[in-house]
Amino acid sequence: MHELMSRAARVRNGCFDFDGTLHTGNTWAAVGRRLPETLREQDAAIRTWYWDQLHTQVPQRSLDDPDWFHGHLPAQNQAVVDGAWVANDVHWYMEAGLTRDDFEAVAQELVERPGASDLLQLMRHRVVITFGIEQVVQRWLRDRNISAAVAGTRLTFNEVGRLTGHHPNVVASTTKEHAARRFCELCGSTKDETLVIGDSVVDVHMMGPTNFNVLVVPPSEIDRKLRDFRENSLSAMWDRVTMILADDSLEPLVALLRDARENT
Ligand SMILES: [Mg+2]
Repeated sequence: MHELMSRAARVRNGCFDFDGTLHTGNTWAAVGRRLPETLREQDAAIRTWYWDQLHTQVPQRSLDDPDWFHGHLPAQNQAVVDGAWVANDVHWYMEAGLTRDDFEAVAQELVERPGASDLLQLMRHRVVITFGIEQVVQRWLRDRNISAAVAGTRLTFNEVGRLTGHHPNVVASTTKEHAARRFCELCGSTKDETLVIGDSVVDVHMMGPTNFNVLVVPPSEIDRKLRDFRENSLSAMWDRVTMILADDSLEPLVALLRDARENT
């Protein structure tokens, strides 16, 4: 505990995951609810396929099975799949005629995890790194009067606010570490000054060995999250986690950081 406090006292800057960490919802699901029914079904089908690939046992297939390749997702191909998935979704959002206002409304639906604003405010430099949408995060932060750098999929809109596409430099779930590294370079944050916080396996990629790494896991999800780590054979990465916050709120972490700064 003493070591945890002295490490916590050195934290100055923070890298934050968005979905499931700063708020309790899911951006893509919230946008999906704004689609007409047929598109919503196609959108949900991709999410289900992706989820099954990551979380269920893939059946043995023979070469005469048309899904011999498409029915499995090699881990090394995941970032490519993430990018293509985003492109697919954006295509359907355009087909549905979504506008800037729709994405702003999504931001307003995303319920803050208690303590999230306070935790962000404790940092000198802060960045939100998400396999979600840049403009949704920006609106969410603006509604709370918080300024932060954001790395996420950047949507493009025309002069009347209609969605026209997205920037190709997508942040994939497994490539968040590149944004985290860039953030630390640009603000000069040393490893032990940098808090990294997320709620899932993919956030562990952002966690450098000597960062202050926090995994937030609501008590109701502990079993599932620990299983994720076992199944993804991330036990080596698991050692990088400085602390697990088994709580629905970020307030205990805010209290820990304040306490550490005042008393060490
Ligand atoms: Mg997350």
